[in-house]
Amino acid sequence: MHRADLHAITGITSRQGRVFVVSGPSGVGKDAVIRELIGAPAGLPGIQRLVTATTRPQRRGETDGVDYHFLTPDEFTKREASGWFLETATFVGHRYGTPLAPIADILKAGIDVILKIETHGAREVRRRIPDARLVFVMPLSLEALESRLMSRGTESAADIAKRVGEAEREIASAHEYDFVVVNDHLCVAVDELRAIILAERCRVGASAHG
Ligand code: 5GP
Repeated sequence: MHRADLHAITGITSRQGRVFVVSGPSGVGKDAVIRELIGAPAGLPGIQRLVTATTRPQRRGETDGVDYHFLTPDEFTKREASGWFLETATFVGHRYGTPLAPIADILKAGIDVILKIETHGAREVRRRIPDARLVFVMPLSLEALESRLMSRGTESAADIAKRVGEAEREIASAHEYDFVVVNDHLCVAVDELRAIILAERCRVGASAHG
């Protein structure tokens, strides 16, 4: 039986990609979880992390176009005015935004997209893409989070304090998410995120919009 016949019989058309939003406080390890999930050699196929834009200074070890599109505040404002973003947010004094155009292209190709964004942006994505799935990565404790931010050494003490303050606010909105993954052991958190994505891909109603 050909794939097309199967689709005709079941009424389930070929699947379009879907959007997974991953949020969680700064320092919880979202990057590590996503990197382990989709990185070679044993990474999950059919999923891509979208590179978002920011006006915050580039950190040591970060590459423009890979970790972020690093924009000047002027360039960010111009792109915002031209409708370039799906959503934008301000976090600890800097602007962040999700470019719109690449998402549609990736989804049309049947590939899932991971948006690693903070909670205001996640809410906006939920509003604009109602079938997006929202996953919150939770730390074991605020103390664990703070010590991770300090050992990372990429932010000043003042910036760390602001990020911990934001963490409390973000954790308070975890109940708005579809799933919560506690990042205590990285490999367990990765397994849980993979399980969420695979289960969503297998959902019957979910695949009938291709
Ligand atoms: P960081 O400065 O640590 O890279 O990111 C700060 C926060 O901004 C993180 O929670 C990160 O997930 C979030 N973020 C990154 N890109 C975007 C974006 O395009 N939109 C929104 N709303 N948040 C973003």
